[in-house]
Amino acid sequence: MAFWTLHCVSCQATYQPEEVHYTCPRCGPLLGTLEVVYDLETVASHFDRQQLRLDARANHWRYLPLLPIEKPEFISPLAVGWTPLYRQEALAREWGLADLWVKDDGRNPTASLKDRASSVGLVKALEQGATTVTAASTGNAASSWAAFTALAGLRTVIFVPRNAPRAKIAQLLLYGAEVLQVEGNYDQAFDLCMQAARQWHWYNRSTAINPYLGEGKKTAALEICEQLNWEVPDVVFVSVGDGCIIQGLWKGFRDLFQLGFIERLPQLVGVQAEGAAPLVQAWREGKDQCRPLEPHTLADSIAVGIPRDQVKALRAVRESGGRFMAVSDQEILDAIALLARKAGVLAEPAGATALAGLKRLVEEKQLTKDVRAVVLVTGHGLKDIDGVLKAATATPRTVEPSLEAVARTLKLD
Ligand SMILES: *Cc1c(COP(=O)(O)O)cnc(C)c1O
Ligand SMILES: [Zn+2]
Repeated sequence: MAFWTLHCVSCQATYQPEEVHYTCPRCGPLLGTLEVVYDLETVASHFDRQQLRLDARANHWRYLPLLPIEKPEFISPLAVGWTPLYRQEALAREWGLADLWVKDDGRNPTASLKDRASSVGLVKALEQGATTVTAASTGNAASSWAAFTALAGLRTVIFVPRNAPRAKIAQLLLYGAEVLQVEGNYDQAFDLCMQAARQWHWYNRSTAINPYLGEGKKTAALEICEQLNWEVPDVVFVSVGDGCIIQGLWKGFRDLFQLGFIERLPQLVGVQAEGAAPLVQAWREGKDQCRPLEPHTLADSIAVGIPRDQVKALRAVRESGGRFMAVSDQEILDAIALLARKAGVLAEPAGATALAGLKRLVEEKQLTKDVRAVVLVTGHGLKDIDGVLKAATATPRTVEPSLEAVARTLKLD
């Protein structure tokens, strides 16, 4: 017997894990996303803070008792999670914050936070006996998925939009996926993947419709709490496309709160790009659902017009007392440069978007003094070289191979 059930976020129906694999049959894929609800008494009987202190695993499987896994023998050897949380004293002082930390989730096997979800998704696929798997993705979820599934010997069919960055395509091809580049945007790739998965009974790792992915993503929240010695930050900033990461974080904080590991919950600030901000719009209008739009932003990982995890994401931000906000592409580029210079962390555009949000709130004096903030960096800068190069203000200078030329160019004596 599994130690969890699946709850529909819209109609509250409860399902056993073997009854439903994706979304609530009554409410459909957009509104009927399912939440994993644990029997916390069972979890608490073999999981506590003291035990974690003694756990030497420097990866996110240290939280295995709080993950929906039945057959741990299917866990991939790739090392996911336990990414560094860097304290930013200089920036905190400059911005009048009590503390600021940057969590670098670009430090994952395929260089994005998506590995947290793929690693859990792989176990679920293997538990179900899948032989062919699929996903639609702007690039990171797919390239992450392909690394795990190809290594496990599964046939992997991937749907990406035409504009997916080249490095992400390279990852897909080299990990061994069959890559279908859809003549359209991410939202169209998503729908095509759903149809194909249904038609040929492929296991589907597309975000939000698979309830187990958010459980993997929540481990970023578990790590933040443990790395801060269970002193919960006041506010956590994260970039948002489909909304799966932000709802996963909220789930992680809530699980820890219910288990008594932490004494309070943080506010969550979801940061979108101005040209792809359906959740910001719904948030401002007080709606529970987004109006679809045509996304335009250089931050490809959050270029989403129909956020697939919108119900949970809106609820998470509301429950946390946080907010959604949007930043411009220029602010995102500025944040890439700032993060590289001040923190030594190179982020892809969507990876730096959360910092852009924090910077904006600081400039607008919208944060109360003495706030302790965490910024989550979700993807590495080498994932999108063309994107991050736009943030560079300098260009290399050409020199002849002589000391004299170096002296002349750098104006040295
Ligand atoms: C997927 C992704 C996001 C957004 O996550 P959602 O769950 O779609 O909101 C942000 N940044 C990066 C780098 C990503 O890969
Ligand atoms: Zn339902």
